[in-house]
Amino acid sequence: MGQDAFPDRDRSFALAKRTNELMRDYGPSATPRAYAVWYAYVSGELPLLNDAVKRLTAEKGHLTDLDIDHLHESYLDGQKHASDASVVSKTVLAELASISEVLDLSLGSTQQYGESLSTLSADLTQAHLSRARLAEVVASLAAATREVVADNRVLEARIRESRSEVEALREKLEATRTESLTDPLSGLSNRKHFEEMLHTTVAEANRGNRLSVIVVDIDYFKRFNDQYGHLTGDQVLRLVAVVMRESVQSNARLARFGGEEFGIILPGANRLEAIEIAETIRSSMIGRELVKRSTGESLGKVTVSLGVAEYRLGDTPASLLERADLCMFAAKRGGRNRVADDASIASPQAA
Ligand code: GH3
Ligand code: MG
Ligand code: MG
Repeated sequence: MGQDAFPDRDRSFALAKRTNELMRDYGPSATPRAYAVWYAYVSGELPLLNDAVKRLTAEKGHLTDLDIDHLHESYLDGQKHASDASVVSKTVLAELASISEVLDLSLGSTQQYGESLSTLSADLTQAHLSRARLAEVVASLAAATREVVADNRVLEARIRESRSEVEALREKLEATRTESLTDPLSGLSNRKHFEEMLHTTVAEANRGNRLSVIVVDIDYFKRFNDQYGHLTGDQVLRLVAVVMRESVQSNARLARFGGEEFGIILPGANRLEAIEIAETIRSSMIGRELVKRSTGESLGKVTVSLGVAEYRLGDTPASLLERADLCMFAAKRGGRNRVADDASIASPQAA
């Protein structure tokens, strides 16, 4: 077969070669997952994955199997949702096509029924209708009716079947959507979902509702990971998620942005209420001594720094989040394990 059939053939082999080199140089092994991650890296189609790989290799010079698992889960599994959704929508379309086929059939038989009724009624208007002809007319009327009833039964059964099929598909679609908006490690919303929700709540705030946001970042987390390992670090990420959940009311929206940063949207909350929640999270974290379950070893305490920003007229999702971020960094500079809010941050002057 000529090479022209695959215009991207040369490029794909070049990418594969580069993938192999990187896999060998930066490890950990040539598993299919590692290949997938490195191939995606060299093809450059997922800039966020490339950032994450660069960060990890800059930090320690190589990747571990665990890093590959994390990268695969965070950046490549998302593609699965897209293909799940496309399978579901294709099945829905096929289902709808088959329902409409049955409807066409049924419309056809109803039309025929209508036609035979009008022929019969024309027959009935004839002045001299014999008993025999009348019996014939009634018999064919009964036959036509039976046919339509039978057709309708088929249609009814088919529609009932389709309804449960469509319901199952709807549930699957809903589950896929939820999965695509959830951070698998913490069970909180992911960054994409956070941004969607922030968009909506800022629009509501523009119409007069109160709104505050909190950004949470774990203190010295790199040190913790280096000392106790990534898996134990992941447990801490889950703990922060639990503490956040325990500290807010049900209308709060919680997310992990990725890494060790979290966000909270508090619809209806003013600055003081948001500060109170941030304080609850901070003090709850400092109140927990971490113990490694397998060995009973004490891992000390992990603290968090939090930034609180209250919505101001004219804020966009980006400006509000940026102010909360600035406050979080101010809390870091102030010594960590603290809450900083945006009361003293002036709004940029309009030009
Ligand atoms: P600071 O107090 O200034 O925030 O210091 P830090 O060490 O927490 O901040 P830095 O940004 O230097 O490091 C963040 C670390 O978070 C790097 C990495 O080890 C860790 N990290 C990021 N994502 C994950 C993850 O998914 N799991 C685990 N276990 N660690 C992660
Ligand atoms: Mg950070
Ligand atoms: Mg940190």
